[in-house]
Amino acid sequence: MYDQDNLFAKILRGEIPSTAVYDDEFAFAFNDINPQAPVHVLVIPRGAYIDMDDLTANGSDAEIAGFMRAVGHVARDVLGLADGGYRLLVNNGPDSNQEVPHLHIHIVGGRNLGPLMVK
Ligand code: AMP
Repeated sequence: MYDQDNLFAKILRGEIPSTAVYDDEFAFAFNDINPQAPVHVLVIPRGAYIDMDDLTANGSDAEIAGFMRAVGHVARDVLGLADGGYRLLVNNGPDSNQEVPHLHIHIVGGRNLGPLMVK
């Protein structure tokens, strides 16, 4: 069950401030408050989806396509990361220790990120 009062729902409604980098019909992107690299942006769907499992099971084709296109657009055109490369990361559910129960894709880059760490 989606929690309408989760942190990112509040950010979408403008009840909690964020530093927006992109906004459209399907997605909203903002700087992570605790960046792990020179560039660390979170892209979230405008729809009420808990995680990737929820979006891919219950989202419309337009929502899924619009959201994924927004992720690419932000990385490429807004953040300028396409040439140097970047990492996308999605924590999904309890075993991943997902902290905020509204789907968010981390875009991380701006330096060599080393090997993927899975503790
Ligand atoms: P996850 O662990 O994948 O659920 O990621 C949650 C992310 O949200 C972390 O990287 C946090 O630093 C980030 N975060 C938490 N609160 C805020 C906030 N108010 N504004 C922006 N990012 C936040």
